[in-house]
Amino acid sequence: MAIVIDGKAVSRDIREELKRDALRLKQEKGVVPGLAVVLIGEDPASRVYIRHKENACAEAGFLSRTIRLPTAATQQVLLALIQSLNNDGQIHGILVQLPLPGHISVDTVMEAIDPRKDVDGFHPTNIGRLFSGNPWHRACTPAGIIELLDRSAIGIEGKEAVIVGRSNIVGKPLALMLLARHATVTICHTRTRNLAEVTRRAELLFAAAGRPEMIRADMIRDGAVVIDVGINRLADGRLVGDVAFEECAAKAAFITPVPGGVGPMTIAMLLKNTLQAAGYRNRTS
Ligand code: NAD
Repeated sequence: MAIVIDGKAVSRDIREELKRDALRLKQEKGVVPGLAVVLIGEDPASRVYIRHKENACAEAGFLSRTIRLPTAATQQVLLALIQSLNNDGQIHGILVQLPLPGHISVDTVMEAIDPRKDVDGFHPTNIGRLFSGNPWHRACTPAGIIELLDRSAIGIEGKEAVIVGRSNIVGKPLALMLLARHATVTICHTRTRNLAEVTRRAELLFAAAGRPEMIRADMIRDGAVVIDVGINRLADGRLVGDVAFEECAAKAAFITPVPGGVGPMTIAMLLKNTLQAAGYRNRTS
């Protein structure tokens, strides 16, 4: 039976550490880390995420500023707002909540954010730095996954790692982060032939397809580490991951639950990036 990795507890530990670091930054340099979150429109899921981010900031002693724009706001208005946040000395991290309405170009908006304040890690400069092995802000969900492995004492180097999903926010950056840690990485997607054959090779398996419970026990190898990134709401209201939890837990060595696995790590890494942007350097790392 697999050990269930408690992402909630790990996230709590990290946020406690960040709180201490933020306090030290304030005492030593008079700087309070500040995160600005921009929300366009009324997407209910985005509103929930933003409330979580505001609460996490408050608990860690960060400044948080939420700016709400109506759905009809033009790209020009959004770009002007980003410009003013780029120049705002109290704000160290800028996050534009996705998805954006169709009349606004995500690429243009991401490129307008000062890469030093791009705590989501989506700016081409930050993606390029990750690609070349010299990262600054790393995308929060995959960075949270690496942190979760490290804090669970699960080795990465030399391991056979398989990722199901090739999105820009999870699959691709995760592949680069695993590669930087010397894993042998395979990325699978909708056109992958014989998916189960590939996933069965994985010592570290990452499911990030957004398909409820698509990873079944016969797709994993005995003793695998199974990390479930998926968050899927079923018609009956239940929240499930991309992994059939019970049957895979019976075969895996480690597994993450949904909810309470990878999910809580994302906010912790967002705060970590914001603290870094505010100038804190951990002397031991
Ligand atoms: P996406 O839809 O952008 O990408 C999904 C990827 O999975 C695609 O590359 C696609 O090729 C692949 N895929 C889909 N079905 C497949 C199949 N049957 N076989 C093989 N590959 C398949 O999704 P995303 O934004 O990367 O998110 C993936 C999941 O992770 C979603 O459930 C999302 O809600 C969740 N997510 C969680 C967090 C978090 O904080 N925990 C953050 C981001 C995304």
